Amino acid sequence: MKREETEVLIVGLGPVGAALGVYLGRMGVSAIAIERDKDVYPLPRAAHLDHETMRLLHLAGGAEAVARASQPLSSYEFRNAAGELLMGFKPTGDLAPTGWPWSSMFHQPTLEHALRARLAEMPTVSTRLCHALKTYETAGEGILAEIEGPEGAYEVAARFIVGCDGGNSTVRRKAGIEFDDMGFDEPWLVIDTVLKNGVTRLSTVGLQHCDPARPVTSMPMAPGRHRFEIMLLPGEKPEDVVSDEAIAAMIAPYADASALEVERRAVYRFHALIAKTWRMGPVILAGDAAHQMPPFLGQGLCSGTRDAANLAFKIEAVLRGRAGEALLDSYQVEREPHVRMITEMAVSMGRVVCTQDAEAARQRDAQMLAAPEDKRISPLLSVDGIKSGILESGGAIAPDPGFGTAHEKSRLDDAAGYAALLIVREESEASRAFAGSGGFVARLGALPDASGRLAALIGDRQAVLVRPDRYVFGTGEASTLVAAWNAYLASGVARAETIAAA
Ligand SMILES: Cc1cc2nc3c(=O)[nH]c(=O)nc-3n(C[C@H](O)[C@H](O)[C@H](O)COP(=O)(O)OP(=O)(O)OC[C@H]3O[C@@H](n4cnc5c(N)ncnc54)[C@H](O)[C@@H]3O)c2cc1C
Repeated sequence: MKREETEVLIVGLGPVGAALGVYLGRMGVSAIAIERDKDVYPLPRAAHLDHETMRLLHLAGGAEAVARASQPLSSYEFRNAAGELLMGFKPTGDLAPTGWPWSSMFHQPTLEHALRARLAEMPTVSTRLCHALKTYETAGEGILAEIEGPEGAYEVAARFIVGCDGGNSTVRRKAGIEFDDMGFDEPWLVIDTVLKNGVTRLSTVGLQHCDPARPVTSMPMAPGRHRFEIMLLPGEKPEDVVSDEAIAAMIAPYADASALEVERRAVYRFHALIAKTWRMGPVILAGDAAHQMPPFLGQGLCSGTRDAANLAFKIEAVLRGRAGEALLDSYQVEREPHVRMITEMAVSMGRVVCTQDAEAARQRDAQMLAAPEDKRISPLLSVDGIKSGILESGGAIAPDPGFGTAHEKSRLDDAAGYAALLIVREESEASRAFAGSGGFVARLGALPDASGRLAALIGDRQAVLVRPDRYVFGTGEASTLVAAWNAYLASGVARAETIAAA
């Protein structure tokens, strides 16, 4: 059988595999990225992206297309059968500190096409549609995979295989990795609709209609599209709810079915699953292959994108001998608590929405309505921050202070790309060494920072070091930060003592 060699074999070109491929390609890593199907996934899925994810997708070449065809959410509201507000989330201001809208309501295929187009421009990444992973085994330090393409079967030897192959991941099953089941399993019909007569939106509000008689989600998507999610009642089967007639009756309280066209429909079981192990030697999982959550927070794809951004720089550093393998152990250590926290939040929101018992719903309503209405509204949920892989002063999502003269025209992210950033008051030997090893260095005084957020972050310190996934690694003296960063790359552990010792 024909055999090829590469550094990384990416299995699956959903949004997570495609973003990972672009990040690796931007760093010159050689990769083969295979996808079983020819076109992007045809059924309705993600409708919401948060600002952090838009920024990470921008670094992967996917955000502009989404921004051109998306709209912000004015609020996200959970209302009971009587229409009373149980809880709600409202963004504060238009743009988040990353420079992107707090929420972008979009159409997942738009993103996937854009990411694949960017991936195709990466000279070191070979993208192959209609190529499916059949099996693989570990071989030496890496893996040997068998792939079936249109011209027959062939082998690929790679240092790493990354399973971005979705919920039913072949990579995960072959490795024998099991899920931790967080106990959520509810059947929902999901419908994407196209609005007729040039209507761009039914509403700017995302609504969870928590009616025990029929829980329904109604969400704006990209302009001209609207999403409905409808919970199946006990005893209902998919074939009972998917017909045009059944859909028209179920969405009647929210929209006139004759004013829209059902584009895609699917019945899903919403799960909450987290893989017990995210890496076994050269075998790594990312995105839905590693975790799945119910969509009530709109965070599945967002979480997978964070995985890709967390992983790519670590793989590159190990391949180039700048990091020990221990750095890859930090991937699950850093990402899993974040995913677990978000999944728990999504499950608890799901429990509010999915209540079908009338008495339980009455008690829920009484309890939630006991708080005054203004206390039931919060800012958009904050899912930022990591707790490890950072120094004591780190962990927040770094603001984008802009670059050049006008923030609208240029982002620091554009100039820096997918790389670690060091922002300093004054350049020094340490900052020059950092730039020499592939990092991006900017002077604080040369950045617009119109909001003053970056200056506030640095405070009276000399510098801030930002990881390639745009979490703040830490603030302090440039030389101590660079030493701590290099120590983190070598060991996968960020220690405050490193700073003290440097
Ligand atoms: C109803 C619904 C609503 C959602 N809403 C949101 C939302 O608002 N916001 C959000 O962030 N997330 C949302 N999500 C979740 C989001 O859609 C997923 O998390 C995301 O698509 C996962 O991306 P992925 O790249 O990990 O996997 P996938 O998109 O599933 O891609 C996996 C790819 O791997 C390929 N593949 C599989 N096996 C093989 C093989 N053996 N060989 C080669 N290729 C293979 C598949 O063909 C597929 O293209 C929603 C999901 C659902 C179902």
